[in-house]
Amino acid sequence: KLYNMVQDLRGNIRVYCRVRPSFRAETKDVIEFIGEDGSLVILDPLKPRKEGRKVFQFNHVFGPTATQDDVFKETQPLIRSVMDGYNVCIFAYGQTGSGKTHTMSGPSGGMQKDRGINYLALEDLFHISKIRSCASENGLNLPDATMHSVKSTADVLQLMKLGELNRAVSSTAINNRSSRSHSVLTIHVHGKDTSGSILRSCLHLVDLAGSERVDKSEVTGDRLKEAQYINKSLSCLGDVITALAQKNSHIPYRNSKLTLLLQDSLGGRAKTLMFAHVSPEVDFFGETVSTLKFAQRVS
Ligand code: ADP
Ligand code: MG
Repeated sequence: KLYNMVQDLRGNIRVYCRVRPSFRAETKDVIEFIGEDGSLVILDPLKPRKEGRKVFQFNHVFGPTATQDDVFKETQPLIRSVMDGYNVCIFAYGQTGSGKTHTMSGPSGGMQKDRGINYLALEDLFHISKIRSCASENGLNLPDATMHSVKSTADVLQLMKLGELNRAVSSTAINNRSSRSHSVLTIHVHGKDTSGSILRSCLHLVDLAGSERVDKSEVTGDRLKEAQYINKSLSCLGDVITALAQKNSHIPYRNSKLTLLLQDSLGGRAKTLMFAHVSPEVDFFGETVSTLKFAQRVS
């Protein structure tokens, strides 16, 4: 059980923050300081310093120059603990455009360069195990979810492309619709450990829907319902993780389908990692503060 020794000292819930590079080199961004200890200071340049300066603390903060490998290195021990029988959940949280998909999948389109956690995790798990695939049943109450047996990372990439395509189909209806859905990749691991005991665990890799508040005056009907559903499921997720972090006796899993789906991998012996993604541009200061507050609440 080598992989867990470091992780166990840090508890079962951790929160990393990632700040993507700025797309507007000509304006000053809101990041004032990133500490090696996981501290982050942001500053709203349009406000008096006293009001505009906010300090946050996470387990780790990745700045704009952090590479995919830097991020993976900090995540690898957690991912490998799946092979020791732990259930693991990794979430990417943040407003649309903040870098969630970049962290989980990599840059959109080309999958060759800067591949994300989904890919690197699979490569690593296939590498350290002699995984043989077997389809098991889909015991979930999700009629559209499918389970496939895989033998290599390439198999999984193929399936993820299909998933991405399914996600994109609805995006023809309205711009950026794909950011209005959660994408969940679950890897089930069945096997025997070195002592011969049976091991069953799973790794959930979750690219959440954008956390931005939708202006009620701008959407109606199904779009409003959808926005409300997303806000509800994200806040339920926050409630569950907060309740776990506070070691409450009641954990409100049943309040959303997302938390119900991930129930076995949230709490108990399971390990949870939330990546809070923020954009550095001043235009997004409000959303950045609310993302950081959300993440601070669960850490
Ligand atoms: P989200 O999934 O949160 O909506 P994306 O991952 O699609 O956001 O990122 C928005 C844009 O920013 C994309 O073009 C992406 O390639 C780019 N981007 C995000 N994070 C980074 C990063 N760390 N380094 C370089 N480019 C990034
Ligand atoms: Mg995305």
